[in-house]
Amino acid sequence: MTYNVTLIPGDGIGPEVTEAARRVLEAAGVRFHWDIVMAGSSAMEKFGTPLPDSVLDSIRKNKVALKGPVTTPVGSGFRSVNVALRKELELYTCLRPCKTYPGVPSRYMNIDIVIVRENIEDLYSGIEFEKGTPEAAGLIDFILKTKGDTIRQDSGISIKTISDMRSRRIVKFAFDYARKYNRRKVTAVHKANIMKFSDGLFLTVAREVAKTYPDIEFEDRIVDNMSMQLVQKPNQFDVVVAPNLYGDILSDLCAGLIGGLGLAPGANLSDTIAVFEATHGSAPKYTGMNKVNPLAMMLSGVMMLRHLGETENADRLEKAISEVIAEGKYVTYDLKPEAPDSAVGTSQVADAIIDKLTRR
Ligand code: NAD
Repeated sequence: MTYNVTLIPGDGIGPEVTEAARRVLEAAGVRFHWDIVMAGSSAMEKFGTPLPDSVLDSIRKNKVALKGPVTTPVGSGFRSVNVALRKELELYTCLRPCKTYPGVPSRYMNIDIVIVRENIEDLYSGIEFEKGTPEAAGLIDFILKTKGDTIRQDSGISIKTISDMRSRRIVKFAFDYARKYNRRKVTAVHKANIMKFSDGLFLTVAREVAKTYPDIEFEDRIVDNMSMQLVQKPNQFDVVVAPNLYGDILSDLCAGLIGGLGLAPGANLSDTIAVFEATHGSAPKYTGMNKVNPLAMMLSGVMMLRHLGETENADRLEKAISEVIAEGKYVTYDLKPEAPDSAVGTSQVADAIIDKLTRR
């Protein structure tokens, strides 16, 4: 069988890591027809938009995509392609497993945490009011009249929205995931003590959903405490479900626990579409240097194989990756903090994994 998959090389280090991932996925014995489309800065230069319709059309048609990171200009310029993709395709779940592989230099052992992040709403709703605009002034006036609260006129405003439906949907996803993969506990993360109507709603809904899964333990943590506990005693956590912003931050934190962003894979999921991508961004300073770690992208590819039902080939590829990490010879600089000069480049990591796969 040949799978039709949309391939988005992305910006910065994206083309290098997606190419490395493509090579190992094919070496794992799975046949693909790659529909290669451009998004991000490269698409902006060529088509005048960072997210051409052709990208959305291709993903809608193929239902599965492997995506490299894309650059989002900070403060000005075009809005995030990632946020737009997630909204357009209703990719409401961001699934980020964080697992330690033997041989990775890290302060922690045996971490196996899955972050389930709500992917569409919260402070990522994209509803913002720029300082000094009539819209911002109107909103400030409305809040003064309705709530009696004063907001400074020189404020920029970003709106945080948390809905019952989307909270319920993501928490249910976390519990279904826990059940499917024999996980014992779900932890909901929030700041409901301060944001009573947004995070408070998320927590209320999470508690309601938890009652319908009596076979799985449930607990909740305030996000600041959660951050401390993740660093101090990470092994107590299993599946973690969070609104968008906390999920984003905590998944980078968890990537740090397992050896860094070079090892943290991810998937953005709707009920029918799956876009697989690493947690890391486009790391522009390393563009074209054949330097960065392709394993996060490859492990996202392993998740894609599982999604496609290619379980055996996924296991084979993950085993080959795990062996290369454990041997510690053909790994990139981030996995060799003590001897960075002996690190290899992005494509040599792919060569080593392909060598393992083809020798078996
Ligand atoms: P980043 O993840 O690109 O890089 C931060 C640092 O992490 C890098 O400097 C590097 O030291 C390390 N790193 C990242 N990936 C690595 C890899 N594969 N191997 C080894 N080390 C790695 O984060 P940033 O610098 O904050 O963001 C750069 C750009 O990426 C921004 O425009 C941002 O908006 C974008 N971004 C995109 C996505 C996405 O497309 N999904 C996600 C996050 C950030």
